[in-house]
Amino acid sequence: MARIYFDHNATSTLRPAARAAMIAALDAGNASSVHAEGRAARALIETARAHLARAFGVKPELVVFTSGATESANMVLQPALAGYACETLLIGGGEHPCVTAGHGFGAACPVALDGDGRLDLADLRARLAGAVAPMLALQAANNETGVIQPVTEAAALVHDAGGVVVCDAVQALGRIDCSFEATGADVLFVSSHKIGGPKGVGAAIFSRRAVMPAQALLRGGGQERGKRGGTENVAAIAGFGAAFQDVCATGADEMVRIGALRDRIEAEVRALAPEAVVFGANAPRLPNTLAFALPGLPAETLVAALDVEGVAISSGSACSSGKVAPSAVLAAMGIAPEISRCALRISLGWPNNEPEGVAFATILARVRHRMQRR
Ligand code: PLP
Repeated sequence: MARIYFDHNATSTLRPAARAAMIAALDAGNASSVHAEGRAARALIETARAHLARAFGVKPELVVFTSGATESANMVLQPALAGYACETLLIGGGEHPCVTAGHGFGAACPVALDGDGRLDLADLRARLAGAVAPMLALQAANNETGVIQPVTEAAALVHDAGGVVVCDAVQALGRIDCSFEATGADVLFVSSHKIGGPKGVGAAIFSRRAVMPAQALLRGGGQERGKRGGTENVAAIAGFGAAFQDVCATGADEMVRIGALRDRIEAEVRALAPEAVVFGANAPRLPNTLAFALPGLPAETLVAALDVEGVAISSGSACSSGKVAPSAVLAAMGIAPEISRCALRISLGWPNNEPEGVAFATILARVRHRMQRR
């Protein structure tokens, strides 16, 4: 049997439409040139921008292409915005390192998570009480657990305090509604490779000019209307645009199918191992993600054994896999280290299907049995 790839929160499989769009764009000119080759490149970029702008209900100039979510976070998490001077940065307790390490404030104040990984709104309220000109960075959904954050409720509190909300919608895009209306956020950022587009491209999407950074992070030739210098990666942007269009056309149906597959795998895991701990089990979760631990079986060993059997899953987030450091997200949820070190993440994507779910359950049972015997 072909390998089973269940690690779409790390990176999803390239969609055929994205591959075709990239190949077609590889010979494009420089989008800043005025000649026909340049204008053709410009048209590819503006088509991709128009897809995103239309879907998010904003003018095209409010969509800025970047090299991915990490750059977007570094770009937007700045105190000086066009229409605001933020002084305090509050961040959700389970944010990605691109937020915790990528912001431009002197310090960030984490807001607690509850035991299911949801932001503690009472803690947010308390922290807002003492905050001057706050900015909140809160992800729409967590990459490790798939837990969906109460962004709408949090945004209402931050807006009442006169603040600005930046939402990391990387894992939410194409999986749940992460529009400005649904989240109440002022700024969203997204990444192409999590939706089946190419790696190394993403976007920051602004609800209005006032929440754009006062100064560009990358200063240079004035590309992206002065918001992001550097010659645009035309093929990557075109691939991102094509993947996004594909997701808009098929995403809702795809997620119903994937959600059913995830539920089936979760039921199989619970049947196989009643001692399994499912993280965020009582919270709303992304339909594609299942994070769980099999107590007593270290995740690193299990992931390696499954890999040998042809299954790709992850222990914790991709950024921390390979390192044995315990997950900061699980620690923020109050999960004990001996459980956390057994944490596994299955994240499904568009190519996955029912036979893979069945095969996975069989392989997991075999590997678990072998490890227990040792
Ligand atoms: N935010 C979240 C929630 C993520 O899962 C990731 C990637 O794992 C990122 C941000 C960073 O995205 P990128 O790879 O585009 O820099």
